[in-house]
Amino acid sequence: MCTVVDVREETPRARTIVLDVPGWPDHLAGQHVDVRLTADDGYQAQRSYSIASPPGSAGLALTVEQIDDGEVSPYLTDELRVGDSFELRGPIGGYFTWNVRDGGPLLLVAGGSGLVPLMAMVRHRRQEASDIDTRLLVSVGSREDVLYQAELAEAPRQGVACHYTLTRHWDAQWAGWTRRVDAEMIGAVGPGPEERPLIFVCGPTPFVEHVADLLVALGHEAARVRTERFGPTGG
Ligand SMILES: Cc1cc2nc3c(=O)[nH]c(=O)nc-3n(C[C@H](O)[C@H](O)[C@H](O)COP(=O)(O)OP(=O)(O)OC[C@H]3O[C@@H](n4cnc5c(N)ncnc54)[C@H](O)[C@@H]3O)c2cc1C
Repeated sequence: MCTVVDVREETPRARTIVLDVPGWPDHLAGQHVDVRLTADDGYQAQRSYSIASPPGSAGLALTVEQIDDGEVSPYLTDELRVGDSFELRGPIGGYFTWNVRDGGPLLLVAGGSGLVPLMAMVRHRRQEASDIDTRLLVSVGSREDVLYQAELAEAPRQGVACHYTLTRHWDAQWAGWTRRVDAEMIGAVGPGPEERPLIFVCGPTPFVEHVADLLVALGHEAARVRTERFGPTGG
């Protein structure tokens, strides 16, 4: 069981939930947990959520984006309160993880809430005062959907190059990209295949497949492209 110790709005559709998990064994950046909710009548629902906090943090942070017709995410974004408890299993996953000792350069590509496990990597890099060359590309519908905006605004000063593309709404002030991730964009973000970056791609299943195909077509070694799919349960 874990207990909610803090909740904070990240965007109009997403919030971060900070948990106290007694006996938490710590985790690696990129891992996730399984959250299991039980209703008063005994009905249970389970979903996976990436860990947003870096290893060694006092509280375990999850960031949940609301899916309109979803079963679990609207409860986590709208109804869960400080002091509530639920079942949690983890940490889970050993493949989609990064530690500063793994080196770089690092290319992180996020679709929507796929930013969550990548943010754990960015935070881990900062905590370790690492200067590993790191590039982040975030694809979202509109500017307000970008998670962790204040923190990411500081990231370039810590050596993380941040790039954004908006796929649905943008205003006249927006100077960034306004299209789906494509080969030209990945080339502009870099690093190129000759630098043999470690690449992590996370987001909805179609996004991840599209970006992974682009990366391999650009000459990146498939073995250096790690993916995590946030598709519907089982997807
Ligand atoms: C390893 C892993 C890590 C994850 N980490 C996070 C995370 O950090 N933050 C987060 O918000 N979510 C994360 N997810 C997605 C999460 O597990 C749920 O799928 C999501 O919260 C929707 O659950 P729901 O019960 O609200 O929707 P459901 O009731 O399961 O689905 C409702 C409808 O939405 C569609 N749908 C379900 N999931 C998605 C999705 N992700 N994108 C678009 N449509 C969807 C379904 O096909 C269905 O039509 C992760 C998934 C995996 C597998």
